[in-house]
Amino acid sequence: MNATIADRAQAAYLGLAIGDALGATVEFMTPGEIRHKYRVHRDIRGGGWLRLKPGQVTDDTTMSLALGRAILTQGGRVEALACAQAFEAWMRAKPVDIGNTVRRNLVTFRHSGNPVAPPSEHDAGNGAVMRILPVALATIGEPVERVSTAIRAQAHVTHHNVLSDGACDTLVAMLHAVLEKIGAGGTAQDLRHFATVLVARHAEYTFDGKLRDNPSGYVVETMQAVFQAFFATTNFEDCLIDVVNRGGDADTTGAIAGMLAGAFYGLDAIPRRWRRALDPNVRDACLVQAQALLAIRS
Ligand code: MN
Ligand code: MN
Repeated sequence: MNATIADRAQAAYLGLAIGDALGATVEFMTPGEIRHKYRVHRDIRGGGWLRLKPGQVTDDTTMSLALGRAILTQGGRVEALACAQAFEAWMRAKPVDIGNTVRRNLVTFRHSGNPVAPPSEHDAGNGAVMRILPVALATIGEPVERVSTAIRAQAHVTHHNVLSDGACDTLVAMLHAVLEKIGAGGTAQDLRHFATVLVARHAEYTFDGKLRDNPSGYVVETMQAVFQAFFATTNFEDCLIDVVNRGGDADTTGAIAGMLAGAFYGLDAIPRRWRRALDPNVRDACLVQAQALLAIRS
């Protein structure tokens, strides 16, 4: 494993889209239903409750791309108002799916013009963390306070919640560690302490117990499934197959595991059949935006 930052950034973005497209087929199914229908679900084939075309992605990827464009338009800065406007325009374009918390807080923004949602204990969904990748790419090497401010600027447009913030902070810290520091010879276990810190801060996130099957959109269950799959496997393909076959919010666990495993294992580790199956316009947009976000860093 000897990938450059650019390679890992592109693999993270491709991993996000591939995990989304792969998982969407089995979103809201139980592991038993998935086993009955596919034995093991391992191919990008579309379908699912959204009746997707093979290779089509959902909100996890398209919100990330919208966020990334807003960051690029702002010269690399993550500004709440620009993020809110980008998400609002994304919602108006009738996306294939949209989370309840995202919809509610964007409708509020439409009327108030205030891009910061009020803090809410009900907003502990996974909608802010699933689209965090462009922020991670735009803030590599920045001081921790600036990273934290950028994370909250995008997250609080729709999810103003400490559990969501904790997941966003942890995932960005892991991505930064992979992109900047963990080079050849690192193992997935080198990232375990980031998850341990999150559990120490919020005990809800404990993930070393029983298998987290059927992870819901609650950010805690989503991240438990992602951590378990990432730490139990040793390559990109196994990690994604593990996480999406748990069912539940499988497009989003797939997207988050995909960005992390993509960054960690690099482009060469992504199976060709998945690269080929992904919508080529999405694939190109992800690759181009990953490069652009790296290039715009101040
Ligand atoms: Mn989705
Ligand atoms: Mn989902």
